[in-house]
Amino acid sequence: MTPKYNKISKQVIAQFEQIVGEESCFDNFEIRWAYSFGGTIFERDWIPDLILLPQNSLQISKILKLANKYRIPVTPRGSGTSLSAGPMTPYRGIVLDLSRIKKIIKIDIENNLVEVEPGVICDDLNKKLEPLGYFFPPDPGSSSVATIGGMVATNAGGIQAFKYGVTKNYVLYLEVVFPDGTIMNLGTNVLKSVSSYNLKDLIIGSEGTLGVITKIGLRIRPLPKARKLGMFIFEDVRDLQSAVLKIRKEGIVPNLLEFMDKLVLKAVTEYLGGEFLDFPNGYVLLAEVDGESINEVEENFSNLFDIIIQKNPIYHKIAKNNEERERLILARKANLPALSRLRPNTCVEDCTVQLTHLAEVIKKIEKIPEKINAKNLLVAIICHMEGNLHPTFLFNENDEQDIIDFEKAIEFLYKEIIIPAGGTLTGEHGIGKIKTPYLELEHGSEIIDIMIKIKELFDPNRILNPGIGKGEKQPIRKSRKSRLLKNQNDKLLSLKCMRCGFCIATCPSRIHYLLEAYSPRGRLSILNGLVYGELDLTEVISDILNTCTLCALCHTTCPAGIDTYEIFEKAREIIYKKK
Ligand SMILES: Cc1cc2nc3c(=O)[nH]c(=O)nc-3n(C[C@H](O)[C@H](O)[C@H](O)COP(=O)(O)OP(=O)(O)OC[C@H]3O[C@@H](n4cnc5c(N)ncnc54)[C@H](O)[C@@H]3O)c2cc1C
Repeated sequence: MTPKYNKISKQVIAQFEQIVGEESCFDNFEIRWAYSFGGTIFERDWIPDLILLPQNSLQISKILKLANKYRIPVTPRGSGTSLSAGPMTPYRGIVLDLSRIKKIIKIDIENNLVEVEPGVICDDLNKKLEPLGYFFPPDPGSSSVATIGGMVATNAGGIQAFKYGVTKNYVLYLEVVFPDGTIMNLGTNVLKSVSSYNLKDLIIGSEGTLGVITKIGLRIRPLPKARKLGMFIFEDVRDLQSAVLKIRKEGIVPNLLEFMDKLVLKAVTEYLGGEFLDFPNGYVLLAEVDGESINEVEENFSNLFDIIIQKNPIYHKIAKNNEERERLILARKANLPALSRLRPNTCVEDCTVQLTHLAEVIKKIEKIPEKINAKNLLVAIICHMEGNLHPTFLFNENDEQDIIDFEKAIEFLYKEIIIPAGGTLTGEHGIGKIKTPYLELEHGSEIIDIMIKIKELFDPNRILNPGIGKGEKQPIRKSRKSRLLKNQNDKLLSLKCMRCGFCIATCPSRIHYLLEAYSPRGRLSILNGLVYGELDLTEVISDILNTCTLCALCHTTCPAGIDTYEIFEKAREIIYKKK
């Protein structure tokens, strides 16, 4: 049954404003609009009603108490880099933007512990730890911008998960604010304890549906002293799988074991050019071992190399020094930039199967466009070799047929391939609002019923992040209307943006305002609304565009290579002429 939520009246907004202050409470349409764009298809009906940017746990406690009293949905948000619409708002309500709560509270090397607030960016933490010889290992592709709070809420992984595990392996304790406003500490700062049910782990990966994470105690590790990387290309994906199974069987634990399919490699070599054009096309395995000494690493790498070579790769290259390593790693890092040039939209899916099923599943995924008879849709496959696949769909969200094909492809992927192979709907991105319809297929109704009971225990009025199927059965609200460009030339503006958010961490005006609309991604979302005639040119929009410093830092971090500088300059010219 869909819970009844209430609209937020002006009087109630005033009460929220009293809690956070005028400068941290926004109900104007332009600011709210920017929060409805994420790494998935834009939904016109998912625009939140109110944006709140609290400064501390106490304010969050008061916000939740009030929202609970008035039955208003609250969706926590870090940097909004979710690829499964986690912080999007199909039931509208409040977005609780946590990016202003971002202190590294303590670094305690002797106890191998750091304590952080949820808005701390993953790379910022590692930059502080590196000179001390330590690191926090989970490293999502979005580490330059993802918040630790978002990583805990989604149990994020990364390219080193094969050896170092995922976020949950490092969380010692959490401070959490529950929907009734109670603030609780879960977990412990010691390394071993069995004195309670493991409530902390229930919060990890709960995607903001049970409580808001406001403080995090993390384990850290010493940095490895040496490492060695190789790239191997196979004609047949089954040979690659067989090499990886043997590596596992022999007990070798690479810190990095990454896969790219043929379409990814082709896109990458065309994008990077130079020596990359010498690579033959095939399935790529990037493998690295690290350790405490050069001797240990050389020995492990030599064992790994022997195993891989026996499986007949058609090409291999071993990095002889750090510079060569960086070049080879670039091939992996360039996946999304390269793919995003093939079609306007790049949607990265996420699922995991047992390694023994990997080759067979990859073959099936490659055939999806043919199976569903899609003409323009492409699928490329990236994979962390714990069996965590990222089938990446490339299409044009402004083409109605492409949208239909994309949705068919997702359905085919989960219903016809992943679930029948005994896999899971998400390895690290979360269920979000995209995979809720398939959740029961994976778990069955009895487990869903238990999850609903857990949700009711923590959040009886279901105000926290509604639309995420963990703990609810309500269908997702979607009423996508076709969007018509006012002027075809405006296609030039913003439409290639995959909304990954890589631009937000370095943008001077975003750093100053700490508000989505005042980031390059936010400004592109605003321009997107203007070119479709869904936003009017208001004073607020002029201010948003005029506060861009035109420094072009966002262009350098944009995977799709969008000419943000040119776009924002042109937009400002238009505004100036209209005045
Ligand atoms: C290009 C790209 C590459 C990526 N690569 C990876 C990868 O390798 N591995 C991986 O795991 N993910 C990856 N992601 C997905 C995403 O970046 C991660 O899930 C990341 O951890 C989300 O952090 P965020 O701060 O952006 O959270 P958001 O996207 O803002 O939120 C994610 C979810 O967490 C909830 N949430 C956020 N903060 C809190 C909080 N303090 N308390 C309670 N709930 C909260 C939100 O409600 C939402 O459900 C990638 C994304 C992109 C765009």
